[in-house]
Amino acid sequence: MVNVTDLNFEELEGFVKSLGLERFRAGQISRWVYKKLVTSFDGMTDISKETRKLLSENCKIKNLRLLKRETSSDGTVKYLFELEDGNRIESVFIPERSWNTLCISTQVGCPIGCKFCLTAKVGFRRNLKTSEIVGQYLEVLRDTGERISNVVFMGMGEPLLNFESVKRAVQILTDERMVGISSRKVTVSTCGIIPGIRRMAKELNRVKLAVSLHATDDETRSFLVPVNRKYPIRELFRELRRYPADNTRRIMVEYVMLKGINDSLQDAEKLASLVKGIPVKVNLIPFNPYPGSEFEGSGMERIEAFQRVLWRRNIAAFIRDSRGQDISAACGMLSAKEA
Ligand code: SAH
Repeated sequence: MVNVTDLNFEELEGFVKSLGLERFRAGQISRWVYKKLVTSFDGMTDISKETRKLLSENCKIKNLRLLKRETSSDGTVKYLFELEDGNRIESVFIPERSWNTLCISTQVGCPIGCKFCLTAKVGFRRNLKTSEIVGQYLEVLRDTGERISNVVFMGMGEPLLNFESVKRAVQILTDERMVGISSRKVTVSTCGIIPGIRRMAKELNRVKLAVSLHATDDETRSFLVPVNRKYPIRELFRELRRYPADNTRRIMVEYVMLKGINDSLQDAEKLASLVKGIPVKVNLIPFNPYPGSEFEGSGMERIEAFQRVLWRRNIAAFIRDSRGQDISAACGMLSAKEA
């Protein structure tokens, strides 16, 4: 049984043709699924009964089950979904004053094992299918009824280790005939998988790239983000220098601020030197603690001092708001375990 949300537009056209239907049915189905948010073919009133029957015998639309929704005091909403095989994932809806962001997962758990991240403690189960990635968008939209203007691939998992599914999900999300979110408003975040960044440069360069750097020397970075042993800082930056970015499409460099580990003002200077000449925007992330976490976050004063060093070196630097901390929905707090 094919899931229509596993197919990009061209694939959907191919699929309807394989059923002996006209090509334009792909557009019709897409409008029903992505704009009108139906979950079955019965509701597709501009398609004949017979065709609807044929479609429902051969494909389906929905494969996530909403298990739980929690709302933070700051308005952030965390969703727990169950997949068809019983695995669970989480997504986070983050309302802002004039836009809304959805943070979605790409894997069940995560194989990277970053020292400070709660998702790492869950371990790795499997990659998500395209339909399970796109499904998070559809379910949240159905639930909130609010426009989702931005999508960030920053939930559970490492997107660039699930490249094919992520690529198709991005195609579906940014295709005007399907979801139609502006590609500038889609961000894929990676811990620094170099072959994946290379593929993104070629195949997905219209969406934004974010890189979780978190340290300025290999010793510290290998400790925090073990994949650094395979893809060390110098090679990572060689790749970022080559990446098709410019001032209107900057690479986001994410840097979690850990007290006494990576937050000295010398680190800020080193960070400034590393990114020199690359169009970046540095995102300083206050550490989100959780029970059993071995780290302490830098205080706001230190984070601001760190930011000022970057500013003095003419580097755009922002401090990320910690949204949804009270419901374990903030960065690095997704574990898909029911509390
Ligand atoms: N695997 C991808 C996508 C995850 S994005 C990546 O590594 O980029 C989630 C971001 O939150 C990453 O930058 C991650 O390193 C960071 N993070 C993880 N645990 C955190 C915590 N406890 N507090 C703050 N940020 C955290």
